[in-house]
Amino acid sequence: MGEVAGLFSSEETVVLGAASAGQAERIADAAGLIAYPGSLVAAPGAVALLAKTGVDKSMLIVAPEGSFPDWSFEFSGRTMTAQADGVNISIKICPLTHDNAQALRRNFPYTRPVCMGLKTAAGTGDRLGLATPGHIRAVRGTGLAAFLAQQSIREMTRTARRVRQVLDDVSWGVFEEGFDEGFGSDADHLKTTSDIDSCAAVGFTMFTVDPGDHVDGSADSASADELAAKFQKLDFGGLETTAADLRRDYLTGPVTLPGDVVIEADDEMLLRAAVKYGAAVGHTTSMFRHLATERGEKPFELEMSVDETQTPTTTFEHYFVARELTRLGVKWVSMAPRFVGEFEKGIDYKGDLETFRNSFAEHVAVMRRFGPYKISIHSGSDKFTVYPIMAELADGLIHLKTAGTSYLEALRVIAHVAPELFREILAFAFERYDTDKASYHVSADPSKVPGPEDLADDRLASVLNGDDGRQLLHVTFGSVLTTKMGEGYLFRERLLMALRSHEEEHYDALQKHLKRHIEPFEGF
Ligand code: ZN
Repeated sequence: MGEVAGLFSSEETVVLGAASAGQAERIADAAGLIAYPGSLVAAPGAVALLAKTGVDKSMLIVAPEGSFPDWSFEFSGRTMTAQADGVNISIKICPLTHDNAQALRRNFPYTRPVCMGLKTAAGTGDRLGLATPGHIRAVRGTGLAAFLAQQSIREMTRTARRVRQVLDDVSWGVFEEGFDEGFGSDADHLKTTSDIDSCAAVGFTMFTVDPGDHVDGSADSASADELAAKFQKLDFGGLETTAADLRRDYLTGPVTLPGDVVIEADDEMLLRAAVKYGAAVGHTTSMFRHLATERGEKPFELEMSVDETQTPTTTFEHYFVARELTRLGVKWVSMAPRFVGEFEKGIDYKGDLETFRNSFAEHVAVMRRFGPYKISIHSGSDKFTVYPIMAELADGLIHLKTAGTSYLEALRVIAHVAPELFREILAFAFERYDTDKASYHVSADPSKVPGPEDLADDRLASVLNGDDGRQLLHVTFGSVLTTKMGEGYLFRERLLMALRSHEEEHYDALQKHLKRHIEPFEGF
C-alpha cells in the first residue's frame, strides 16, 4: 500500500481507482469524511477524490500543504490543512454544484461525454439522478459503450430535472466510480431545434431526432385517391426532389440488399412510404443541418427515431427513409424503426419471435446497404427474449435504450428498505394509472396487482415481478416524483433519501438487473 506522499508527482491525469483505495481512505479520514475508494485520481500537482459524510458528497482536492496547483482554483470550496501518513496536506472540500461539475469536466476529461461511433451501446437513462454508479458497474469491462446520460425532454419535464442536472449527476457518478473507459450522452426524443440547442449547450454529444409528429400514420390505410392527393401535397422543395424523380429513383425493379434481401417497390408502396415518412425525412434533415451548423468543428452524433408511431416501419419504408436521408446528406449513427410486435414499457417483448426475426433481418439488410449504422432499440428495457436475435443478426450494431427499468429497480430497493413508503407509492400509482398511462405503450390491468394492504412487507417487491405491477409503477414515475405536498414533494425527497441511505444496495440492484440487458450483446 503506497504512501500519500507518493501521490503528488503525477504529470498527467490518471485514475488510480480501487488500487489506491488505502490512500483515498486515509486522505478522506484526515478531512473527517469517508472516501469513495474507486474515485482517487492523480492530476498535476494534486489528487482528487469523492468523499461523503452521511449522505452528503463532496469532491476533495488534495495537495502538499500550501501548494494547490492552478487548475484547482477553478473549483470553489473551503480549504483546510491536515495530516495523512505523516505528511502535511491542504484539502479543498468542494460541493457538487453545477459550476464545480463544469470545472470537473474541463479538468478531468473522462467525466465528459464523447462520441461513441459504432460500438455496441447500452443507454441507461436515470430518472432519479442516483443510478450512474450502478450503471457503470453493469457496463464496465464489457466492451459496450455506455450512454450514461440519456434523457428525453419529456422525461426531464416529468421528473422536474433540468438538462444540465442530468449531465452533472452523470459526471459526478463517473467521478465516484473512477470510470475512465469513456461514455456517451443521448439527448433523446428531440422535436425542435431549441431542444437541440439546450442539450448541446450543456455538452450532450448525441442527439436523437424524433420526427414522429411528422409521420403520417394514416398512409397505411389511405385509399388510392387519398394517397395520391397527399402525395401531391408533399413538400418536394424541402425534400429537394420532385414526384417524377422519386418515381425514377424507386420504381426500378428489384433491388438486392446485403444478405440477399430483395425489395421491389410498386407505385402504391412508394406513395405510402413517401406520404408516411416524407415530412419526417424533411424534418430530420433540417434538424441535422441545424446541428451541423451549430456544432461546427465539434463532433456530434445523430439518431433518427420513429419508434413512437402507430404502425410498424416496413422494410421498404426503412429503405426509403435511409435512402432519402443519404441523398440529402444527412449522417446518422443509429436509426430506430418501429418494430413488429409490441415493445411495451418495462416488460418483455410480445409477439411472434419468428416474425420478429425475419423482419429484423430485413431491417439489418437496409442498415448494411446505407450504413453501417446501429439499429436502435427504444423501450429496450426487459426485452430479454429478443436480445439474442438482435445481437446475432445485427452483429452487435445495436444501441439498446433503457430507462424505466432502473426506476423499477430503485422501487425494489425501496420495498426492502422503506416498506411503508413503498406501500404509499403503490397506493398512489393505482390512483394515477389511468391518467398517467396516456402517452405510454402499455396494457397493464391494475386489478391484477395486489394492493398495498394485501401484502406482507417481505412480499412487497413481488409487485415488480409481474407485468401488470411493473407497468402500473413504470408509467406513474412522473407523478410520483413531482407531486407536491406543501412546500415540498409528496414522495420525492423521501424516495431519494432512502436510496442515498442505502446506496450500495441500490447500486447492486441496478448492476444485477442491467447486466441481464447487457450480457446478450457482449462479444460482438
Ligand atoms: Zn423512444
